[in-house]
Amino acid sequence: MICLGIESTAHTFGVGIVDGKGKVLANVKRAFTTKKGGMVPFQVAEHHTDVCDAVVKEALEKAGIGIKDIELISFSQGPGIGQCLRVGSFMTRVLSLKLKKPLVGVNHAVAHQEIGKLLTKAKDPVLLYASGANTQVIAYEAGKYRVFGETLDQGVGNFLDSFARFAGLGFPGGPKIYELSLKGKNFIELPYTVKGMDVSFGGLLTNVKHKFNSGRYKLEDLCFSIQETVFAMLAEISERAMAHTGKKELVLGGGVACNKRLQEMCSIMCEERGAKFFVPANEFLVDNGTMIAWLGILKYKAEGAAKLKETIMRPYERADDVKVTWV
Ligand code: AMP
Ligand code: MG
Repeated sequence: MICLGIESTAHTFGVGIVDGKGKVLANVKRAFTTKKGGMVPFQVAEHHTDVCDAVVKEALEKAGIGIKDIELISFSQGPGIGQCLRVGSFMTRVLSLKLKKPLVGVNHAVAHQEIGKLLTKAKDPVLLYASGANTQVIAYEAGKYRVFGETLDQGVGNFLDSFARFAGLGFPGGPKIYELSLKGKNFIELPYTVKGMDVSFGGLLTNVKHKFNSGRYKLEDLCFSIQETVFAMLAEISERAMAHTGKKELVLGGGVACNKRLQEMCSIMCEERGAKFFVPANEFLVDNGTMIAWLGILKYKAEGAAKLKETIMRPYERADDVKVTWV
């Protein structure tokens, strides 16, 4: 079975093509970026509309197949930005009707979990999902991927992007903060907010904006200290979730998980507690169509196709809203 999956929850329009055994045939994407300022939903949706056709064509070419070879279509149903989700859901409905192929909608956060398992062979991991809009520690318990800890306000990526925008670094800010952090030498103590297995970034954002405006700190030192602080918070809640659930594997997901310093901290934490640590390749950490295609296959095998009226967007759907029928 060959599945074409479409991701469009936020800045990325991605198309993945996967076969029934989990072999990735193509993973192509275009991401909305700016030199200055952040994401404006209608502009991102226009970007996706502009590129969707070309990205599907490129994916089919990479996979060496034609559109008629597609046997299943899946799309990210949520959580995400309504205007962006609309592009993927509309396009896949049209494709499904035109090609007369089954359609399934899948949850984006659950897709990060499943692609991590597929690519790393982790069996029953805790997932640290650190992305733009989402920051959660998720693991399977009793029929669902349960959220053990999460941000109480914004996602860690949005926090990094907001600070970067404020400091005039452009979007996405995470990689720019990383580059500058390598030149930082002095650690500046910043607010560290962990509550049980939850974290929060709002107070920290206000604090670092004030510090930036004061002109008393080097931007490199601020970037270095921001990373040391927020990644320690994420490693701490991941460890607490592992201790709480008794699980012995940690998998990373989400664009912020591309960060080498976050990977290093999590790797040390896992080594110290005798756990295994897994990081999929960057192209599968960031939002991608492949994880949507793979979860589409898993869900279709367990539940069959969705009815058209079930393929509405679900901008607020959480990982723990989804009944897991395929594990
Ligand atoms: P996602 O929403 O999962 O596609 O991830 C996008 C987020 O990842 C954005 O907030 C980026 O700033 C962030 N990001 C990407 N690469 C890095 C990196 N190397 N370090 C930190 N954040 C990153
Ligand atoms: Mg994501």
